[in-house]
Amino acid sequence: MQNTELNRESLRRLAELRPEGARVISVFLDLDPSEFATPQARITQAHSLLDDAGRRVDGDDGLGHEQVVALRSDLDRLRSYFEGLEFEAGGALGVAVFVCGPADLFETIQLPRRVQSAIVIDDSPLVEPLVDQLTQGTWAVLLVNTKTGRLLLGSRDRLQEVESFRGEVESPLVQSGGGSQARNDRGADNEYRDHFKQVASVLFALTKRVSMDRLLIGAPKEVYGAMEPELHSYLQQRIAGHLSVDVENATPDDVHRAALPLFEEDERRREREALDRMEQGIGTGGRGAAGLDEVLGALNERRVEILLLAEGLSASGVVCQSCGWVGPEVDACPVDAGELQRRKDVIESAVELALEQSAEVMVPHHHDDLERHGGIAAVLRF
Ligand SMILES: [Zn+2]
Repeated sequence: MQNTELNRESLRRLAELRPEGARVISVFLDLDPSEFATPQARITQAHSLLDDAGRRVDGDDGLGHEQVVALRSDLDRLRSYFEGLEFEAGGALGVAVFVCGPADLFETIQLPRRVQSAIVIDDSPLVEPLVDQLTQGTWAVLLVNTKTGRLLLGSRDRLQEVESFRGEVESPLVQSGGGSQARNDRGADNEYRDHFKQVASVLFALTKRVSMDRLLIGAPKEVYGAMEPELHSYLQQRIAGHLSVDVENATPDDVHRAALPLFEEDERRREREALDRMEQGIGTGGRGAAGLDEVLGALNERRVEILLLAEGLSASGVVCQSCGWVGPEVDACPVDAGELQRRKDVIESAVELALEQSAEVMVPHHHDDLERHGGIAAVLRF
């Protein structure tokens, strides 16, 4: 079994995997503790998915004997996996597992966000439910006052504390228990500055190990004013807002609750920007595409910067076996007349093409602009 990190490269590699003659099982499991608090609840959920898949395998006349045997064995391995200790995912809110015995594939990806539980059997791993998580990025929340610094990392669904540091110097302000007299004390100011510098350097050192796409700072107002200039410009550029919490006593859940409106505002704004760029591109006949045919055309031409997909969108189509051209139901590949393979869901192929050309894949949750474009649109590079 292999634990794989959620990133563009791993999703692309999985999406391109197409074991000849064998079927691949993709399982997505929601691990949100508020829904599935106990290991037993999660195992029950996994069992019901696997039972359902087992019935589908038994009832599928399109499968050959060897495929059925391999799938049954893969379902058994999944059962053991979900029952085993490895299933105790630390902090993950979801897990994706891709299995294909004949291709020696058993990969798991822990997910920072919730995923809708599902099991899919197809000729390739299904990565589409994961691309949305990829573009959400990692949130960092720095809590800081004159004594303490704490860092939390996570997604808009959950934050975890990863670091806490106390200033080396016990400040006079803290010892005297009052603020006004110390404010005139230059020595105290310097001590605070050392503390802020230290917090900033620990934080910057961490950016080399973990990604922090956006940063929120929770601090008393005057501390925020002193802290921000000390941060490395890399982090300054990632500041997405301030929040007001009890720096020393707030639990990660408290911080998450306070940050949630800021996460949503940020998400809403980024979606709006992408949708506006798309609409403007279409309006001016330039860098925008809308509707399945047009977007697939742009993907085939490697012109897509952001692929915009409505949640749960599915459409049938074809993929050329020789050049990879993806299109609606047609008789022959327009590029090289290669053999076409029919796909129940061509959206997964569209996502693969998007990953190949390093396009961002966005599934808007706050705006319904995509409805009038058949659920699919794109911002183009050229
Ligand atoms: Zn072709």
